[in-house]
Amino acid sequence: MKVLPLAVLFLLLTVQHVVADEARVLKPIQYQSLGNDVWMYTAYMDITGYDNYPTNGVIVLGNESAMIVDLPVSDIYTRYVFDWIEKQGREVRYVVPQHFHIDSAGGLKYAQKRGAQVLMLDKTQAMQFSELEVKPDIVFADELRLRVDQHDLWLAHLGGGHSADSVVAWLPQQKILVGGCLVKSGQSKTLGNTVDAVMDAYANTLRRIQNRFPDIQTVTPGHGAPAENLLQHTLGLVQLHQEKQNQPIDMSTD
Ligand SMILES: [Zn+2]
Repeated sequence: MKVLPLAVLFLLLTVQHVVADEARVLKPIQYQSLGNDVWMYTAYMDITGYDNYPTNGVIVLGNESAMIVDLPVSDIYTRYVFDWIEKQGREVRYVVPQHFHIDSAGGLKYAQKRGAQVLMLDKTQAMQFSELEVKPDIVFADELRLRVDQHDLWLAHLGGGHSADSVVAWLPQQKILVGGCLVKSGQSKTLGNTVDAVMDAYANTLRRIQNRFPDIQTVTPGHGAPAENLLQHTLGLVQLHQEKQNQPIDMSTD
């Protein structure tokens, strides 16, 4: 057998690797209308260990421009969301992550390359994973009020919860609260990932959001289906989590 020179072998392996990646079948993104130009997309985690775990974000379509609140984990899924918006004849003007985790901030660099402006809470900027490091175009503290053509959109940081930098988006005309990973879906029985959670602030943050936006009609969670009462549901899970923490450790051996 003829021995392949190393360089050729390396080239073959590289080509094979690229082909395998391209051929990987991604679950298609779902788009759900929440009414009045607001859509929730559900993409998936395409990283090892979390394959096919659904992640949400919200798209606001203005007359000409659009905004995405929370980006998918990867460039490829972010590209699909951008392509979908462009097919509707709109250009993505702003994107914003609701916290620093990858299921919220993963696609930011790609979004910037596509011409969108990255808005970011000052706390998120400070917490970013180094491998993602994105230079935001606009940094805000606590609150930012925007217009996406005919739609109002307010970004607010009302305290820590799922992470120290939790941001919610409020659409006053649609009465939709984009909760992100701070808010759990009705199917969630626990708070899930609490590695970066600020447990002593969580309940107060949720109550502050309820007081600030008393006429919420729909809340979108970071994962799972939207519903009206998800702040209250999440508050229940926070209390459950705290009760469990406070339980004395069972030292019995049987
Ligand atoms: Zn999440």
